[in-house]
Amino acid sequence: MDYAAFLNNLDLRLDSYFEEYKDFIYCKIGCSSCCEKGDYPLSDIELQYMMNGYIALENEIKKIVQENVKNMKSGGACPFLIDKKCSIYPYRPIICRVHGLAYLCRTNTVKVPHCVKENKNFSKVFQDGEIIINPIKENLDTPEILKNFKYGEIRNLYDWLNHSPGFSGTDG
Ligand code: SF4
Repeated sequence: MDYAAFLNNLDLRLDSYFEEYKDFIYCKIGCSSCCEKGDYPLSDIELQYMMNGYIALENEIKKIVQENVKNMKSGGACPFLIDKKCSIYPYRPIICRVHGLAYLCRTNTVKVPHCVKENKNFSKVFQDGEIIINPIKENLDTPEILKNFKYGEIRNLYDWLNHSPGFSGTDG
């Protein structure tokens, strides 16, 4: 299966999880808190796909992204976030697709969205540092999701972009 087709299937599965847990989800257009602070770990294959999205952007938008990359801080806002929207949304990595969900991780711990502490996702069912409902049982960690692909190395977005000498040269 090619990567784009794989993502379509994944999105369908994730949509069903968002539907199943909708009573606890506050995600809406205009909320970009998942993109304003974070490490955004992603693999080589995801980075390449993301760059397809970047290359397809209009030059004006590319310039904004390039400026954002220059000013990017480790752990800070994602440079693809413009006016609170993802400029490469269909090309975004796995970690961004699972933003907002509570799910089991590799280590058998539960990953809860950071906005639980802002009275948003899953806050209705969050007590003493954990959610009191069953999380999604599927392990939604990137290596697990991509286990059937040769996905390459995983690095934080900041590290990828700061080690990609060709990045600013990809403007058209
Ligand atoms: S790639 Fe898009 S969805 Fe992912 S953190 Fe950046 S702006 Fe947000």
